[in-house]
Amino acid sequence: MKENALSKSLWIKNPLAILAEGAENGIVIENGLITELVPRGATPKAENVDVFDASNQVVLPGLVNTHHHFYQTLTRACPAALNKPLFPWLQSLYPIWANLDPDMMATASRLALSELLLSGCTTAADHHYLFPQSLTDAIDIQVEEAKNLGIRVTLTRGSMSLGEDQGGLPPQSTVQDEQVILDDSLRLIKQHHETGAGAMVQIALAPCSPFSVSTELMEASATLAREHDVRLHTHLAETHDETNFCIEMFGLRPLDYLEKVGWLSDDVWLAHGIHFEDGEIKRLGKAGVGITHCPSSNMVLSSGICRTLELEAAGSPVGLGVDGSASNDGSNLIQEVRQAMLIGRLRYEAGEMTHHAAYRFATEGSARCLGRDDIGKIAVGKQADLALFGLNEPRFSGAGDPLAALLLCGAHQADHVMVGGEWRVKNRVIEGLDMEALMVDHSKLGKALQGL
Ligand SMILES: [Zn+2]
Repeated sequence: MKENALSKSLWIKNPLAILAEGAENGIVIENGLITELVPRGATPKAENVDVFDASNQVVLPGLVNTHHHFYQTLTRACPAALNKPLFPWLQSLYPIWANLDPDMMATASRLALSELLLSGCTTAADHHYLFPQSLTDAIDIQVEEAKNLGIRVTLTRGSMSLGEDQGGLPPQSTVQDEQVILDDSLRLIKQHHETGAGAMVQIALAPCSPFSVSTELMEASATLAREHDVRLHTHLAETHDETNFCIEMFGLRPLDYLEKVGWLSDDVWLAHGIHFEDGEIKRLGKAGVGITHCPSSNMVLSSGICRTLELEAAGSPVGLGVDGSASNDGSNLIQEVRQAMLIGRLRYEAGEMTHHAAYRFATEGSARCLGRDDIGKIAVGKQADLALFGLNEPRFSGAGDPLAALLLCGAHQADHVMVGGEWRVKNRVIEGLDMEALMVDHSKLGKALQGL
């Protein structure tokens, strides 16, 4: 019975609009993959297909989020951190974050992943770098939460080793011994990292930033990642303060430092990537380093505007990230696509920073940042990861172009979301999740952590 159910094809029929060429009459899904694009006026070649009527739906590839800090959903709009730029913002929050416990980690991850799913995200990366004594299994907790929700994840084992005593920014109580970090990184790769098409859980290594880890840890993390064929991630070129820190601490600009530690490479993606000079953009593109654009966070912290289209033109994959929920403060990826388009128009011509460019960041660009070619696009052979948005809200009434309308009118919630051929969100509800109860628990833990 189960086998029959699995092998049955599903035709997502007659979409209102679809982000794919030659699929005007929909797509066919079988065994978790997209097996057919159905052109205008045609019917599927596959026989005995089930039909999903998509005539009131805009169909997108499942959106891919490439940078987040799930735990920060507990410190949204935190009074101590309001209206500050990055370094003072971090210094206000580090002592609060130091009290994170396993229950908080699980609940925050569940809430962040739920928010992402509801906004059309089917693959999410997280960057977790806080491992107090009581929370050494933070990534294992995240793996379990992601599996329960059925969303794909790239969980990055973050790290901080350069405390205030060594000239770093974070307090000493939040940093770990470097050998402990490397041993745990290896354990997590061996225990959780899946390879190949359709992987649900991948691990990457992610020293937090130049101002919170040592040169030795940057180098050793790269060596370990390459030995085990996993990707590398960090924050870079987010603010002028960071550039000044790198010049003072290492005598190098952030990108020169990145090159020195062996990270100027196509197995690396960077969060933010704002303050690069022209020559640096060329070097990044030539090396194929991916950049996660985090528009909302960059606006909240007054960090600057990422040079997305120039980075893409130079050869870098450019993806999107909602970033942590202490600097966004939501985890809504379709809203982030709108933000990318809007902020992009402050730097580029409207005809360059089109809605299609913004979608490209959140789909193919993000997938490339995560080193994946099996997701991020509606095409035959790709994973059946889809986000379907209805236009049945006052904000869309009167809209002409449905794909443009999602961004211009401000879509914020998908009607249906599919991951690997399985519906994870139906009619705006996550299968098997009691959202009310989750919000009660999460809100209680958030108040406790913020000391409110
Ligand atoms: Zn971040």
